[in-house]
Formats: sequence, structure tokens, C-alpha cells
Amino acid sequence: MKITKQKGTISGPYRVIIASKKIDKTLTKEDQKLLAEFNKGEAEMEQISSLNEAFFLVKDNPDPEKIRKQGAEVRSRLKREVKSLAVSGKSESLFYFLEGFLLAGYQFLKYVSDKEKKKNLLQEIVVSDNFEDKRIKELKDINKAVSWARDMVNEPVSFLSAEQLADEIVKISEQSGFSAKVLQKTQIESLKMGGILAVNQGSIDEPTFTILEYKPKEYKNKKPIVLVGKGVVYDTGGLSLKPTANSMDIMKSDMAGAAAVAGAIHLTALQKLPVHVIGLIPATDNRPGLNAYAPGDIVTMFDGTTVEVLNTDAEGRMILADALAYSAKYNPELVVDAATLTGAAHRAIGEHAAIVMGNADEHWFEKMEQAGKSTHERVVRFPFWDDYLEEMKSPIADLNNLGGASAGMITAGKFLEHFVKAPYLHLDIAGPAWLGKNDAYRTRGGSGYGVRLLYNFLKNSVND
Ligand SMILES: [Zn+2]
Repeated sequence: MKITKQKGTISGPYRVIIASKKIDKTLTKEDQKLLAEFNKGEAEMEQISSLNEAFFLVKDNPDPEKIRKQGAEVRSRLKREVKSLAVSGKSESLFYFLEGFLLAGYQFLKYVSDKEKKKNLLQEIVVSDNFEDKRIKELKDINKAVSWARDMVNEPVSFLSAEQLADEIVKISEQSGFSAKVLQKTQIESLKMGGILAVNQGSIDEPTFTILEYKPKEYKNKKPIVLVGKGVVYDTGGLSLKPTANSMDIMKSDMAGAAAVAGAIHLTALQKLPVHVIGLIPATDNRPGLNAYAPGDIVTMFDGTTVEVLNTDAEGRMILADALAYSAKYNPELVVDAATLTGAAHRAIGEHAAIVMGNADEHWFEKMEQAGKSTHERVVRFPFWDDYLEEMKSPIADLNNLGGASAGMITAGKFLEHFVKAPYLHLDIAGPAWLGKNDAYRTRGGSGYGVRLLYNFLKNSVND
């Protein structure tokens, strides 16, 4: 998608004006009249169309999310054959409008045979020349990184094995200039990452452990921030097999945390943020085949902790625990993980937010909540009291991997905390990572949730 700037009046058969109270005098007299009328009315949007023309009037709004949604609305009304759209408005409003518009235009057509008949043909967006070049670049980068994350989540496991996911991360690392090193099974074995290896036992595909690092010449944090993303490329539940409906049928999305982390580091590198960040992506599928790990097994993890497996469907914490323990090697300022970890999180708050918990200082929570507000990838804080750890103890090992019947999202978080040395934030994104239907600019399937959140969080973390 090209975004080009135009001096003077924005024109063309397909155009949008984001109307503020003060009427732009560079507009044609006719448009000025239309706008004055529109401003008097109640409607948030008006569409004036004829056969080969569409003119959208959109009311400006101080709430960025309202403007993003108007962008998505225009995308849904615009015919797919339209090749060029002109948009004018105040710079901030233009940014949010186009953010919503571009994200709403996402399509996953790789496996559709008549994709030419379905593809949006828009090639160019023309904007008023008050729009800064660096904002245009940021918009494009956001769209690129979120679309990548959505693609990863939407790809079925028949394509996206753990090794393929690692390859895809290497590809984007070459585009944006972060480094990506992929550890193969033999290296994972020599590191004794017992959690990852246990989960992988039932699969014929090998696990991977990908280490991403973005370290620009100049960065503001003294110690790195480590992001860890759950990369279960497919979760059958293992021997504790899941039912299909509304459960296993969407489990290609169980690597959405990995997509969010890699997407956010990609975006951070594209935008050259002055922050030193490391990403750790443990990846495998979870299957009941071969010598699959079994309920009752006791697994020795990377850090030596022993875990009694009570349910093989609680595999995310098994692979994350190894990655979280591995993070100590970087002596990080903060460790954040993102994982589609528990059904409990999804049931508690639905698809509209992720759950955040942890033991990091208040200011880290504030930065995360702030990032959630500004991107509308919201987070809700849950308690993290040690009482919840009691249920994760085992009489015959150090921990068990299941916990009790209630507060599953918190007991899972407490299990993970055991393995982290640094201050820690845990994001359970099981709710918002996958959407059953379109929700404005959040398209059905993989939502890309977490890319914009973590990118903004990193941005906030170096801008005090
Ligand atoms: Zn599972």
C-alpha cells in the first residue's frame, strides 16, 4: 500500500473528510457547504455515493478508538475494486483513522482459490500534506507487523510447524534488522529444557527455541527487557485430549503469544526504538502420539525444578517455564510473557482484554495499562497473592502443572513466577488473541492482539 501526500485540496472520486468544527478553507466551496451541514447534524458519518464515486464525511472525535472504528467502517463500505482513496483531516485523527482502515483491510486469502475475486484492490491512499512522513512510516510498520502476526495465527499447523514458525521469524528479522537465532532439538536437549522436550514427545515434528534480539547502537535501558511468547503451534491437549468444538478447532491459535512477541520486536526494530529487547520463543505442537508425556509423569525442568504432570493440556506453562528460567542469563530489567494460557482467562473477561498480573513494580503495571489504553489492546489486572501458589505444590515433586478448579489463570501465573528471577509481568491473552467474528478493525481469526500493546509498552518504557 502506497501512502502519498498531496498539496492543497484533497480530491478524487473516492474520498474521506474527517471533519472538525473549524472548516478547512482549502476545500472546495461545495465541500465546505456540505461539511457545515454535516457538522450541524447528529450523525457520526455520512456517505454520499453515486456509481463511481463515494464521499465520506466523518466527525472528528477526541477518542482515538472511535476514529479507528470509523476507519474500519469506511473500509467495509468501500467497494473492493476501488484503487485509490483520498483522506484529509487533522494529523492525529488521520493517523487513527488510517490505522483502523488499514487493519480492517487485512485479508487471509492464501488458501482461497478465487482470491483475485476477493482481494481488496486498493493500492494508494492519498493524504493531506499536513501528515508527517514519520507518522506515515509508523502506520505502514504497524500494519505490516500486525498483519504478519495475524498471518501466523491464521496459518494451520499443516504449514506452521515449530520449525516453520522459527523460519518465519528469521525472515522478518532480516527485513527489520533484529537478530534471530534458532536452537534445534539437539541444542534444546543439551540445555536440558525438560518442559519443552516433554511436551514435544508426542509429536513427530521437532521443537525449536528461537532467541530474538534487538539492540540498536543507542538504547536507553541499562538492562534488557525480555519478552517471552508461547509458541504452541497446535494444541490437541496431548493425552488429556481436548474436545473439538470451540476448543481444539481453534488451537492453531495457541502460538498467538509467540506471534505477538515476534511481531512487537519486528515493529520495534522497524521503528528503531532506542530499546534493548530480547525475545524468547519456545515452540512445539502438543500431540498424543508416540511416547507422549503422560499425566503422572514427573519432569525435570531447565532450572532443575521437578514438575508432576497432572494434565498434559496444561502444556503452555511447561514450555514457558523453561524459557522464563533461561531469561536469567540476560540479567533483565523486566520479563514479560504473552501466552494464550488458560480457558479461565477467556471465561473471566471474554475477548475484550488480556489479563495482566505479576510481581514487578507499580510503574511497570502503569506503563502496561497506559499502553493498553492508547492501543485499545486493554489489560485488566488480577491479584497475584502467594496463597494461589499452594495449589500448585505437589506431594511428590516441587510443583504440579494443574492447580485447582478455580482461579486457573492466577495459579498458572504463580506457577510461571516460580521460574523467573527478574521482576515479572504475565499476560494471559487467551481471550483477545482469537476472534470468532470481525469486530471493527479486529478481523476474525487471529486478531494480532499484543503486537501494538507490547510495542507501545516498549515505547513507554524508554520515554519517561
Ligand atoms: Zn493446552
